[in-house]
Amino acid sequence: MSNTNSLTSVKTNAESSITDADLAFDQAHIWHPYTSLTNPLPTYPVQSAQGVTLTLNNGIELIDGMASWWSAIHGYNHPELNAAAHQQIDQVAHVMFGGITHAPAIELCKRLVALTPEPLNAVFLADSGSIAVEVAIKMAMQYQVSRNKAHKNRLLTIRNGYHGDTFAAMSVCDPVNGMHELFRGVLPEHIFAPAPQIKPTEAWHDQDIAPLKALFAEHHHEIAAFILEPIVQGAGGMRFYHPEYLRQARQLCDEYDVLLIADEIATGFGRTGTLFACEHANIVADILCVGKALTGGYLTLAATITTRAVATTIGNGPGGGNLMHGPTFMGNPLACAVACASLNIVASGAWQEQVPAIEQQLNQELAPCKALPSVADVRVFGAIGVVEMQQPIDVAAAQRLFVELGVWIRPFGRLLYIMPPYIINTAQLSQLTHAIQQYCKS
Ligand code: PMP
Repeated sequence: MSNTNSLTSVKTNAESSITDADLAFDQAHIWHPYTSLTNPLPTYPVQSAQGVTLTLNNGIELIDGMASWWSAIHGYNHPELNAAAHQQIDQVAHVMFGGITHAPAIELCKRLVALTPEPLNAVFLADSGSIAVEVAIKMAMQYQVSRNKAHKNRLLTIRNGYHGDTFAAMSVCDPVNGMHELFRGVLPEHIFAPAPQIKPTEAWHDQDIAPLKALFAEHHHEIAAFILEPIVQGAGGMRFYHPEYLRQARQLCDEYDVLLIADEIATGFGRTGTLFACEHANIVADILCVGKALTGGYLTLAATITTRAVATTIGNGPGGGNLMHGPTFMGNPLACAVACASLNIVASGAWQEQVPAIEQQLNQELAPCKALPSVADVRVFGAIGVVEMQQPIDVAAAQRLFVELGVWIRPFGRLLYIMPPYIINTAQLSQLTHAIQQYCKS
């Protein structure tokens, strides 16, 4: 059979019911995130999604505790996001951003500039979180070159961090927990401070920042930027640290002429109870990365936002002052239009009540897990609930149990966590926390 013939036999979306043969094809031919084709994990076929509910092919409904890796903050099949996508697709789905501009990008960037504190006001639209981090790193390096400080070409970061899967982003992920230890030796070697141990609720002592201070003092002459996730370290360990650490880190960056890159890809748009996690420490980064919830989880889009000072220095530097990055799908109009609609919902402010309510309920309902022998720690911050087990979790077995219990929770390492859509109601959230309790007891 020719390729053309085999293409004509592909199902259309309307006939998209997934058969066992389709699932077998999926297992044999398609890599899912962080999986092996020789030892694949089971995959669950989703047919549709509405609100906080995923519906599987066989009609089983699951309450989604992951918000599609923390992005679907307003829930699925949202009428305003759908309308924005429909409207835009009838105008123009995509057009190159080189030499062309369009209303959805301009509108989105206006909103991003307005939402982020001064002096952040220069926006680069990236196509994913990892790329937003790549661009942030590129900006920092190019900034230093542009002011004749090319020797400042390394990055400082903290352990247990996670910033993405592309090469520059991998180089600042935790060398052990960050999933990229295989690439040691290939990645540029940056400087790692110990992860902050001080929790948000604990009493601050100046010794909590001492190791970071020492690294700034020793290495500042070679450091372009300090990159970290503000307050919440996500995929590198789901850990929360004291805002004073971030506040003093900002001071150290100023004192030692180092740029501060805040990776708010996971924390941005309300997840921690403030619009951006940097607000807990009342600081502003020199370069801010946002992504994930930017489009309410509809389309891939991220942004790297910097100050006029950084943008101007790069603009006056070598290479014609051009920031040398420009992906094909940069500023995709469809994604920008949906992002504008998502930011409208964010601007309506409902999250300011939803997130603290989720936090309170998570605190109450996950607390009983603390007493269980299988559990090492329970922690909650904003709309993020984490149960750290004593032993590594068998992901396939855990997911089987969760699906039987009508929930979607995807653990990693020793961590069970939930970051649901903000619109989740109390009964739905209880279903998630009870499923976690049940897993911990099993
Ligand atoms: N930074 C942080 C803090 C993240 O949590 C993630 C994704 N988990 C990324 C960067 C990478 O984003 P993406 O998966 O969209 O490339």
